Amino acid sequence: MAKLGDYFKTEDFKKEKHVPVIEGTSGVKSGVSFTVSVTVGKEIPHPNTTEHHIAWIKLYFMPDGGKFIYEIGSSVFSAHGESVDGPNKGPVYSNSIATFNLKLDAPGKLIAESYCNIHGLWESSVDIVF
Ligand code: FE
Repeated sequence: MAKLGDYFKTEDFKKEKHVPVIEGTSGVKSGVSFTVSVTVGKEIPHPNTTEHHIAWIKLYFMPDGGKFIYEIGSSVFSAHGESVDGPNKGPVYSNSIATFNLKLDAPGKLIAESYCNIHGLWESSVDIVF
């Protein structure tokens, strides 16, 4: 049986960045709220056009020794120049940067997913240690 996880990519192309970059996790303390940002295309921008764009970013938490993963949230990027005048003629483009404010009571892993409308699913993770 094919599993969705088999189709996630973690190694990027040379000229285009898809892997989500998770930032803001250093110095995190148990039970204290903090803000994480997840960006696609931080070093090398990913295209943001009607034909080719990042559609969404999701963030999950897997506690150390836990059995189940927790979804923290999602950001959906809906505007990529679509317009009644045609593709890339619209007035608005949403950029692929998501922020989440959260609090953790256990160490574990933050795992981010991103979805490019033509290059599929990408993921990365960061260890959270108190
Ligand atoms: Fe792409």
